[in-house]
Amino acid sequence: MTEFKPPLEDMSFLLKNVFNVDSLWQGIPALAETVDAETAEAILEEAGKLASTLVAPLNRSGDEEGAKWDNGVVTTPAGFKEAFATFAEGGWGGLCGDPEFGGMGMPKMLGVLFDEMMYAANSSFTLYPTLTSGACLALNAHGTDELRSQYLPNLYSGRWSASMCLTEPHSGTDLGLIRTKAVPNSEGSYDISGTKIFITGGEHDLNENIVHLVLAKLPDAAPGARGISLFLVPKINVENDQLTTPNNVSCGSIEHKMGIKASATCVMNFDESKGFLIGEAGKGLACMFTMMNYERLSIGIQGIGCGEMAYQGGAEYAKDRLQSKGVGPLRDKSKDADPIIVHGDVRRMLLTARANNEGSRAFALYIAKQLDIAKFSEDAGEVKQATSLIALLTPVAKAFFTDLGLESTILGQQVYGGHGYIREWGMEQLVRDVRIAQIYEGTNGIQALDLIGRKVAANQGQDYQVFSAEVKGFINQFESGAHANNPRLTAMFTELKGAIDSLDELTELVLSRSSDGNELNGNAVDYLNAFGYASFAFMWCMTSVSAVEAQADSDNPYLENKLVVAEFFFARLLPKQQAYTNAVKAGVTSIMAMPNDMF
Ligand SMILES: Cc1cc2nc3c(=O)[nH]c(=O)nc-3n(C[C@H](O)[C@H](O)[C@H](O)COP(=O)(O)OP(=O)(O)OC[C@H]3O[C@@H](n4cnc5c(N)ncnc54)[C@H](O)[C@@H]3O)c2cc1C
Repeated sequence: MTEFKPPLEDMSFLLKNVFNVDSLWQGIPALAETVDAETAEAILEEAGKLASTLVAPLNRSGDEEGAKWDNGVVTTPAGFKEAFATFAEGGWGGLCGDPEFGGMGMPKMLGVLFDEMMYAANSSFTLYPTLTSGACLALNAHGTDELRSQYLPNLYSGRWSASMCLTEPHSGTDLGLIRTKAVPNSEGSYDISGTKIFITGGEHDLNENIVHLVLAKLPDAAPGARGISLFLVPKINVENDQLTTPNNVSCGSIEHKMGIKASATCVMNFDESKGFLIGEAGKGLACMFTMMNYERLSIGIQGIGCGEMAYQGGAEYAKDRLQSKGVGPLRDKSKDADPIIVHGDVRRMLLTARANNEGSRAFALYIAKQLDIAKFSEDAGEVKQATSLIALLTPVAKAFFTDLGLESTILGQQVYGGHGYIREWGMEQLVRDVRIAQIYEGTNGIQALDLIGRKVAANQGQDYQVFSAEVKGFINQFESGAHANNPRLTAMFTELKGAIDSLDELTELVLSRSSDGNELNGNAVDYLNAFGYASFAFMWCMTSVSAVEAQADSDNPYLENKLVVAEFFFARLLPKQQAYTNAVKAGVTSIMAMPNDMF
């Protein structure tokens, strides 16, 4: 089985050269005091060690053993508890947390790279702390001072963890249907009763308390989503920072799943459990979106992590496995068979996975940069623009990264031939583990609907215009800059221009048809995919300009490789944008034609 090698060189290049974090962070006072590129590199190096030496060795055994349920008690696989203690002691749970409550206050640009390495090493393990980090964001943004000071320090430190309780047996995508009740009690808190299903980390043995963020309805709630409120419900009640009595929260069972077997997916029962309102009554879904948006990007990053691990495995195997003679200069004539890396189809698979991973990593950083600007910048105009980009691009990141993540893990597995299907090589686990990322946190179909409906059609494309202007501004800058005559870059920018013009035109078409709900619904996924490939063209132009600039002072082969992968992306992957565009243009008549009972 391949050992995980943290992709630190690529991460460092993206941070320092492409996103120029030293000047970005220097320009934002709250970040200038906290971090610079050197500190960020040192943190990432430590994170890489944590992922590869502490967490990765538990990936296979965790999959084999799985989380176990016995009479309400959930036990994580051997080694998880100790690894979590080390994780917590290192302060990793508070990496991007609010310093007022004991967090380290690091930028999200560091957080996404940290998450990627952790997911690459062990998706199941990583879900426990990432759910907690998301809950902290929602609590910090919407909770009372009392709740924040009581809970945040313990969540950041890893003394306690958190879960996100939305889904009920009859209510998944459509959360307006939830039945969990919240009844005000004489203490000023609420009695929460109901059953939630599929709750990641709802119960486990990693630490002493679990703080559930629960969506529920008050007795006089408005119907549908407008009647939903958000509550904090601890597993064990807390007073003066000490645990007191159990809070009638129990785990009825855990699910038996295709993958992420070491992550406990729990049925959670709340029986008049004491809960505290977070944010305003009836605004629970909006408050929960603070957590859900965070989790959506995080789950997108699960796609990148698994894809990266699959690429590393596939590339190592392909250099080693001898099958068939190659053709042309890459072959070794003295041997009966060449390593399969010489064969065009194997190279296609590996390059696709690599371009998927590196494009996604750059795009995750681009969104993280917007999140940091929105959170820390003192410039109102910048914050407004970043907020538009976050809203627009989060569903693209979640769905596109996880679709590509599955593609990459399957390609990595395919490179192994039959051995990819056999457990001991680890590739089949990656395919099983990444598959859920297309489903939870809102299915990828729902992400696409969010993009086309709420983020594009509902505001007449205003957020889209911000993105399109950003891309065009970047193209203009290139055309008047020092590299405008570089033939390799010019070829890429010509493709980028075509990609963004095509997406502009498609968005206009979508807007012109937006009064027809079926047109939005049936075209959503293809629109998101066209959007994803165009965005990646933007990313590859950004990284390529930086690679060319860096080549002036360095002959590091990494830089040339970056350009080769970029050229592969433009030649072989970007054409997919047109296929998706053509599908949207064709409209949904053929999708809606067949009567329900003919399916
Ligand atoms: C392993 C695992 C972990 C999970 N962790 C959590 C967790 O921690 N907390 C939590 O609250 N939930 C969690 N979930 C639940 C998860 O988020 C939901 O399963 C998911 O959002 C889909 O809901 P559903 O399963 O009810 O599917 P449904 O809502 O029934 O959807 C079924 C299908 O119909 C499609 N569909 C539904 N409505 C529309 C529409 N309007 N237009 C087009 N298509 C539509 C969906 O895209 C999907 O393909 C988890 C689930 C799993 C399996």
